[in-house]
Amino acid sequence: MDVNSLRSQFPQLKESVYGKPLVYLDNAATSLRPLSVVQAWDEMSLKHNSNLHRAVHKTAVDATEKFEATRVAVADFIGASSPKEIVFTSGTTQSINLLAACLENAGFFSEGDEILIAESEHHSNIVPWQMVAARKGLKIKVLPVDNNGEILISRLPELLTPKTKICCVAQVSNVLGIINPVREICEICHANGTLFLVDGAQGVAHLTTDVLALGCDFYAFSGHKMFAAPGVGVLYGKKQLLDSLPPYMGGGEMIESVSWEKTTFAPVPGRFEAGTQNISGVPTLVPAIELCKQLKTSEIEKEQEKIKNLILEAFEKDPDITLHGNPVEREKKIPLFSISVKGAHHEDLSLILDKMGIATRSGQMCAEPLMDRFGVTGMLRASFAPYNTLEEANYFIECLQKAIKMLK
Ligand code: PLP
Repeated sequence: MDVNSLRSQFPQLKESVYGKPLVYLDNAATSLRPLSVVQAWDEMSLKHNSNLHRAVHKTAVDATEKFEATRVAVADFIGASSPKEIVFTSGTTQSINLLAACLENAGFFSEGDEILIAESEHHSNIVPWQMVAARKGLKIKVLPVDNNGEILISRLPELLTPKTKICCVAQVSNVLGIINPVREICEICHANGTLFLVDGAQGVAHLTTDVLALGCDFYAFSGHKMFAAPGVGVLYGKKQLLDSLPPYMGGGEMIESVSWEKTTFAPVPGRFEAGTQNISGVPTLVPAIELCKQLKTSEIEKEQEKIKNLILEAFEKDPDITLHGNPVEREKKIPLFSISVKGAHHEDLSLILDKMGIATRSGQMCAEPLMDRFGVTGMLRASFAPYNTLEEANYFIECLQKAIKMLK
């Protein structure tokens, strides 16, 4: 597959913005959707719409089969031992909230326990833990990053104590684009008896994920950042850990038996999937996974490397640009770039780029503590996907330079 045939699968790339061809560089927020995903979505709505796991009629059985086949595909995609380790949610945010609430309900935390969170985390991997901490009297500890944005693993031994119950780190930072050494951190945490959660929201589409090789206890991600439908997400958990957790929400289909005297709960993963699930959305993970797999073995990966080098070199040459997330080894970064520009506000830059057809993100990117760490109120972020071209990368640099000149 080359980039042009890939682009032809994404109708939105043919759209114009203010009369300019759309250059979509906001992929870390949400990726565009290919026809295969839209077709799977439509097919579920137009042909197979029925509630899941309930009725015996053919349409219900078909819909349920598609839903459960998706669970198998997801387990295979991330290297889980069993589809039973895959819980469907509405996205990374719900996955992490579910985990935090279930651990709390399981009596996993006692007053004075600690939760360790990387300084570069998204609010989704901070706030749910803060909420549990406030309820249970826990202490949140921060695993810091250095000035390049790399996690200071050397600080782990002093931060981990017998009270550290769980450590939460993103596979890839949504601000810095840095691939964090989650496997190494996981090993150190496990040696301390600490559970380890990986937030895979940014990693799942860019990297090859193998949860068994990573060794993590839990892994969360969202469909919409990997070409699938919005409102679909996954929480992976090791089977014996999921088995030990009580439900998160009560309702239909998460039970084994209900009476006024006593209710018992379904085995995992059904126990965590109360109520009607995302019937049309979940099956879109199948074509999305298929595409991710194809991309990882295609020439397009090399194109992404070229884009990364081109942008990094352009930023290095400009003394007014500070790149946040500049690891010593370039291969530890995905093509996601957040910058500050001397004398130009990130939001003004993003607005000017928008008029030139380029969609970028500006602001705190749901990582306010990281903005504080770097002493900025926000950043400008350009995040590339495999359908972005070298030509678009060049156009972005050219337009950014124009926008900076206009603001100076
Ligand atoms: N974690 C990271 C690293 C993210 O980048 C995001 C979204 O940008 C999230 C979590 C939250 O994802 P969602 O909004 O799909 O739940």
